[in-house]
Amino acid sequence: MNKISSIFGSMVFNDSVMKERLPKDTYKALKKNIEEGTTLSLDVANIVANAMKNWALEKGATHYTHWFQPMTGITAEKHDSFITPNGDGVIMEFSGKELIKGEPDASSFPSGGIRATFEARGYTNWDPSSYAFIKDHTLCIPTAFCSYRGEALDKKTPLLRSMDALNVQALRILKLFGQYEVKRVYSTIGAEQEYFLINKELYDKRKDLIYCGRTLFGAKPPKNQELEDHYFGTIKPRVSAFMEELNEELWKVGVLAKTEHNEVAPSQHEMAPIFTTSNLATDHNQLTMEFMKKIAAKHGLVCLLHEKPFAGINGSGKHINWSVSTDTGENLLTPGKNPAGNLKFLLFLCAVIKAVDEYQDLLRASVASAGNDHRLGGNEAPPAIISMFIGEDLEALITAIEKDEDYAGTGDRTMNIGASVLPAFKRDTTDRNRTSPFAFTGNKFEFRMAGSGASISCPSYMLNTVVAESLSQFADALEGSKDLETSIKALVKETIIKHKRIVFNGNNYSEEWVEMAEQRGLYNLKATPDALAHYVKEKNIALFKKHCIFTEVELRARQDITLKEYSNILNIEALTMAEMVNKDILPAVSGYIKTLTDTALSKKALIADITTELEEELITSLSSISVSLYKSVQELDNALIEVNAIEETAAASEYYYKRVLPIMKEIRIAADTLETLSASSSWPFPTYGELLFSV
Ligand code: ADP
Ligand code: MG
Repeated sequence: MNKISSIFGSMVFNDSVMKERLPKDTYKALKKNIEEGTTLSLDVANIVANAMKNWALEKGATHYTHWFQPMTGITAEKHDSFITPNGDGVIMEFSGKELIKGEPDASSFPSGGIRATFEARGYTNWDPSSYAFIKDHTLCIPTAFCSYRGEALDKKTPLLRSMDALNVQALRILKLFGQYEVKRVYSTIGAEQEYFLINKELYDKRKDLIYCGRTLFGAKPPKNQELEDHYFGTIKPRVSAFMEELNEELWKVGVLAKTEHNEVAPSQHEMAPIFTTSNLATDHNQLTMEFMKKIAAKHGLVCLLHEKPFAGINGSGKHINWSVSTDTGENLLTPGKNPAGNLKFLLFLCAVIKAVDEYQDLLRASVASAGNDHRLGGNEAPPAIISMFIGEDLEALITAIEKDEDYAGTGDRTMNIGASVLPAFKRDTTDRNRTSPFAFTGNKFEFRMAGSGASISCPSYMLNTVVAESLSQFADALEGSKDLETSIKALVKETIIKHKRIVFNGNNYSEEWVEMAEQRGLYNLKATPDALAHYVKEKNIALFKKHCIFTEVELRARQDITLKEYSNILNIEALTMAEMVNKDILPAVSGYIKTLTDTALSKKALIADITTELEEELITSLSSISVSLYKSVQELDNALIEVNAIEETAAASEYYYKRVLPIMKEIRIAADTLETLSASSSWPFPTYGELLFSV
């Protein structure tokens, strides 16, 4: 066996380990639970727990933890050792009860008001559909996390619920096509993860990076990404060593790390895994982000997962490649050789078109965060307007359907580059459109708006849910039809006519698109508070209720949590800014002014009529900019006092967006100008040039 095959999944209690270590009927019962969602008895859980523990002990684990994903967006774990007293010594034990249920104190996790502080109890609940794994000598059991009354307090629960909803509705459609053999339909996801690596020594000198994960100051460096020499460039040895270790560690826990390359911005990179079910993909992406941070530290580096660590330089996103597949291995978004005659594909495609159009607001809200607001619409990521790209061929096809015309197809796609040694190959059916927020890429959609730092759970469950809703309406309309083919064709045509406004194959970065989108009546929800306001619209509350994703209470809690998080982030950033200005920037500039003054005075002492024009001009500019900077910081302080008095969550976030953010922008401009005018030796922290070109 080669090295990779021997380490891949070596730390995962996966299907083959279960098959080997569990009694046959236990294995069967567990498998049925995983694949068909049947309930699991305590007896089965006891046997599984014991086998898991024995396996984990052999692998050197001493502890176990219920590994969960609270609303903070990162994962949580509380380790318990397996030890149980036995006479003078201990034995190692782990029961089915401990496997199924944990009782962490929920009071310190965000709950959006669901859980009053006196109700501290929360539960974690084993998710058998995501394999247990070992990291840091601890057996990690993926779990969902809910309140004492069963309300979801995490990112996994709604995702699992949405997968069920999609499954139920997609199965209804497949039955219409006679596919009774399909037992389960899954959404699949491959999440491409972008990140920056910078030198730890430099990072440690910047409070903004330490507290906020992004730089709040920094003048533009002389070189940026204009030479396009970084994208796909040769990977530097230090980064390569990091990637090698990252891959190995990810492979051990079963993450299908596949592609690695340099990204557009200096110091920016990407890792893409092979796709898997959305639940596993979400767990794996959380592990990926955690491992990136840990392993970077071992290499003297820091991994920045923030969506916009450096102003004026491309930020990081997370492309979510999404599709729907059956347990029999059929990808339901595959057009096949003749998409025009592939009614099932057309129906699923139309379900997505309808869903994206009707729930643009939810998709936009699913990627809303303070960090991502800096990226969307900045000509590096899609604008905040949701639309979808389906490529020339499919656009021609849907236009033909709409107009009852024949669709000729596109014929031979053999590519011949013109040098006889190069083998001919087939061209893809769609070109790429890097500007589209939601692009069809042959047999899947790529949702490109998600931010690099966030869990992919929310965009995933939104997609699953909105498409489940379209499918449910389609099934309602088609079940019982006497002439299925005619009914499907009519439904497809009707859907295209009604929802084609959401299809846009052009340049999403252009000014014209913003105007055109407005004329088409599409939303342009620029900032997080705008987007989050849509969460609790009546149609959205009804949607989540219908598919049992969220009760209204749960939905309002999520809105509250997301908006509070937005305000908290802006608050931390504002305070960090004020501190850096008052404690570092202004004193540094004063020091430099003194140096200039001393220089001018000593020059004069030496030669009475020497010019000190340079010193005087600089001193004057530095002084006047310092004064306005100081005043802006005072204004910021006052704004923070005012916003602290606002109790209502939405109003507070609105105030941060409308009042605090603009002052922060002013402060930044002034400080960056001071940086440009100051001597390198006097500037209190590493510059953009140093941060971006030092690895
Ligand atoms: P690119 O973005 O360069 O076109 P790929 O086509 O290789 O790259 O795919 C990018 C990501 O999409 C990878 O993570 C890949 O595993 C994932 N992917 C491919 N097929 C599917 C699918 N059916 N469902 C979900 N993700 C998929
Ligand atoms: Mg991509």
